[in-house]
Amino acid sequence: MSSPIDLRDRDPYDVGQFEVPDGYREDLSGVLVSAGEIRSRVARLAEEVTESYRDREFYPVCVLKGAMRFHVDLLREVDLQGYGEGVVRASRYHEGPGSDTPAVNFPQPDAIAGKDVLVVEDILDEGHTLAALFEHVESLDARSVEAAVLFEKGKDRGPAVDPAFAGFRIPDEFVVGYGLDYGERYRDFRHLGVVDPDDVGD
Ligand code: 5GP
Ligand code: MG
Repeated sequence: MSSPIDLRDRDPYDVGQFEVPDGYREDLSGVLVSAGEIRSRVARLAEEVTESYRDREFYPVCVLKGAMRFHVDLLREVDLQGYGEGVVRASRYHEGPGSDTPAVNFPQPDAIAGKDVLVVEDILDEGHTLAALFEHVESLDARSVEAAVLFEKGKDRGPAVDPAFAGFRIPDEFVVGYGLDYGERYRDFRHLGVVDPDDVGD
């Protein structure tokens, strides 16, 4: 498996160097990863997923809603046929900000048994979300569980979780775009941008 592309020491692109919707321009302080870089890296991750799951009971699970674009773009490039797929909701903020234990909700829990589950997640920060998802998937009698994570923040993890497939290692900033939101905004932004939550709406 390839290591994630480490962008922690790369300066963000200037927002003015990309096409940015007018309403977003003043909220974003930079572009960390361009849409083209995301596309190229997702294609490589898809090759690795294809290779790894060729003779297994592949069952990708999209972590709603942030990973929706990554999930679709990844599976478009994965060269496997005849598999099922699922979704899961995991929210860390159900007990208010800072809660470590995410609420996990599978609409079709019975489909997991015996499957080689690939959790498709947008971003790994402290690891609580992925750890809870792994525990939940294992409790549903999956044959195996691994994760594909597009972005990873490099900071110290709480629980030890190690995604089998990881796209980019990024600096510890709050990022939006390519499916990731801040208050349900910016999911449609094509690149991965940085917002300063304190500045939004000023
Ligand atoms: P963890 O449990 O690993 O600390 O947090 C992972 C979850 O927090 C992700 O699934 C994502 O929903 C959210 N998250 C963490 N960092 C960011 C970020 O920079 N931007 C956005 N939009 N969500 C984030
Ligand atoms: Mg998430």
